[in-house]
Amino acid sequence: MNIKIFWDPQVLAGLTGLERPVTRTVEMILQIQVKTLDDGIFISGYDTKRRQFDAQRILNKLQVYKQKHGISTPILLVTSRDLFVKGSDFVFGLARESSGVAVVSSERLRNEFYAREHDDDLLVSRIAVEIAHEVGHILGLAHCKDSQCIMFPPETLDQLDGKKRAFCSFCQQELKKQTGEEIIDSFD
Ligand SMILES: [Zn+2]
Ligand SMILES: [Zn+2]
Repeated sequence: MNIKIFWDPQVLAGLTGLERPVTRTVEMILQIQVKTLDDGIFISGYDTKRRQFDAQRILNKLQVYKQKHGISTPILLVTSRDLFVKGSDFVFGLARESSGVAVVSSERLRNEFYAREHDDDLLVSRIAVEIAHEVGHILGLAHCKDSQCIMFPPETLDQLDGKKRAFCSFCQQELKKQTGEEIIDSFD
């Protein structure tokens, strides 16, 4: 199997040149092929009061795209727009397992958001970890209590940075059932 990723073309400033290293890192973590989708996708769901995008509405768009194009493998959008879901101040990303779609925002993965110095390597690593987390959900994995595991749900950037770029041995087994692939870089 493979996964397909859209890179939001309207707001790639700050992400230019990072697609490739992110793609490679995701492939390393998940041991599945990652393809880039070149189509444009119109993103709706802007909330003028919150100045954020409704992640559920973005997933609706991705779901329609997927059905229209008869895609059966997971598709995911990476955007620099800040995302929310009802009941939360923000989300790093969101997945909808039933339709195999997910969105990840780079906005709060940037050091600059926290008045820290820019760091490309950290940004690449964080986006890749977040993508792997959402793909994990698409493939049926639940949240994990192990704070170092990809499937741990971080509430802050520091919690996110405390995760390894790998699944714990339990989540690795679960993932393997779904993908049929051996994950090399796991830990326990
Ligand atoms: Zn999650
Ligand atoms: Zn785990």
